[in-house]
Amino acid sequence: MDTVNQEKDASHSVKTDRQFRTQVGVVGAGPAGLVLALLLQQAGIACIVLDRQTREYVETRARAGFLEHRIVEFLRRNGFSKGLDLRGVQHTTCEFRLEGRQYIVPYGDMAGCAHTVYPQQFVVSDLIELFIARGGTILFSHPVVKIEGLEDDKAVIHCHAQNNIDHSPVVKQVECDFIAGCDGFHGIARASIPPDRFSAVTRQYGIGWLALLAEVPSSTERVIYALHESGFAGQMPRTPQVTRFYLECSPQDKESDWPEERIWHELRKRMAVNSNDGDRSGNDELVPGKLIERRVLDMRSVVTETMQYGNLFLAGDAAHIITPVGAKGMNLAIADSEFLAEAFITYYREGDGTHLSKYTETRLPHVWQTIEFSDWMLRLIHNLDESGSRTFSDRLRRARLERLCGQGDYANTFAANYVGK
Ligand SMILES: Cc1cc2nc3c(=O)[nH]c(=O)nc-3n(C[C@H](O)[C@H](O)[C@H](O)COP(=O)(O)OP(=O)(O)OC[C@H]3O[C@@H](n4cnc5c(N)ncnc54)[C@H](O)[C@@H]3O)c2cc1C
Repeated sequence: MDTVNQEKDASHSVKTDRQFRTQVGVVGAGPAGLVLALLLQQAGIACIVLDRQTREYVETRARAGFLEHRIVEFLRRNGFSKGLDLRGVQHTTCEFRLEGRQYIVPYGDMAGCAHTVYPQQFVVSDLIELFIARGGTILFSHPVVKIEGLEDDKAVIHCHAQNNIDHSPVVKQVECDFIAGCDGFHGIARASIPPDRFSAVTRQYGIGWLALLAEVPSSTERVIYALHESGFAGQMPRTPQVTRFYLECSPQDKESDWPEERIWHELRKRMAVNSNDGDRSGNDELVPGKLIERRVLDMRSVVTETMQYGNLFLAGDAAHIITPVGAKGMNLAIADSEFLAEAFITYYREGDGTHLSKYTETRLPHVWQTIEFSDWMLRLIHNLDESGSRTFSDRLRRARLERLCGQGDYANTFAANYVGK
């Protein structure tokens, strides 16, 4: 690869009102795209971010909430953590429930560090504010419709926009050296790789989760994973007023199959603890609240093994989706961008494209290790019944929970993986 001169002072040069030129075109203003853009901006590398949604939409889209220790440290090191340092809440304990018994795991004490709970929409909003305040350009409401020139010196992003005066549709083009595809699993970037050069590996678990957000304080300060014969139920604090709940269901279920009364009944039933057990927190206190999100997720993980094609690099959900079990998706997206930014910086500063050309090779082992953890944990909290005997599977799950509550290597390994040490 040739070295390209830096455009140090601007994120782009405007050729016409419909044509831009930049060094890295970033498609997608989610955690992956924004972290990458900020790191490039800090290094004086020109970039433009494009997102098909409005700013308001991306800043209010509630999804993840748990930030790993190493990701918080990374954001802090780079000066991106002001909001989460002010409003994030540290979590060090989780609780599993099986057959009414509580298994409390102080993973933070074991690993010597904590999760920070800070909702994804706050992370995104903070990053957008910082990038724009530092002079960055984000073109919101600009859906990318075509990407071309991936094998040439000059890649081109084509996007749609509206004329400011008469709101008529216009097509804009961004020429760039590289494109970072940070546009999620259904975005255009991964779909632009020719099918004969594209490779992805998928696991479909045949399980659904009804994902809920409720305007109600969490009944306990810790995360609860309840393993019940009717299926898994989970409770995860998000903010003092909002809690995320999950209920295992069929992936074919519709949201309309789950009226409010059924939801709260199932949550109470699946999360119940034995009345003669000591710590009953989280049982009696589970009070219904207004449901502000209700959607069925299909539990699956997909790893795109072609994270780079020509001058296109995929990061975050565009490259891999991981089930929400273990809360790793946003963390993995940010970790991709950390590595990708380093590779771009080495290229532009030193003319050395080795890290860029090894992007896939370097990231895939970490991606697979994260998928492995999520898969292990998914098998812990669901009865997948692969042995043909639910009882056998339940006994195994109980044995695993007992080991997690012990002090040995098994528990320590879980703690380090879970918290992202
Ligand atoms: C219910 C739920 C709970 C979750 N909980 C957790 C958790 O606790 N911890 C965790 O780490 N992860 C969690 N995740 C996963 C996490 O939300 C994702 O992994 C994360 O959003 C990935 O970030 P990203 O930047 O790669 O993609 P995204 O956040 O999806 O951002 C992609 C952006 O690209 C834009 N885009 C798409 N197509 C185009 C186009 N054609 N043109 C322009 N822009 C486009 C989109 O509008 C979007 O803004 C959860 C996910 C869900 C659904």
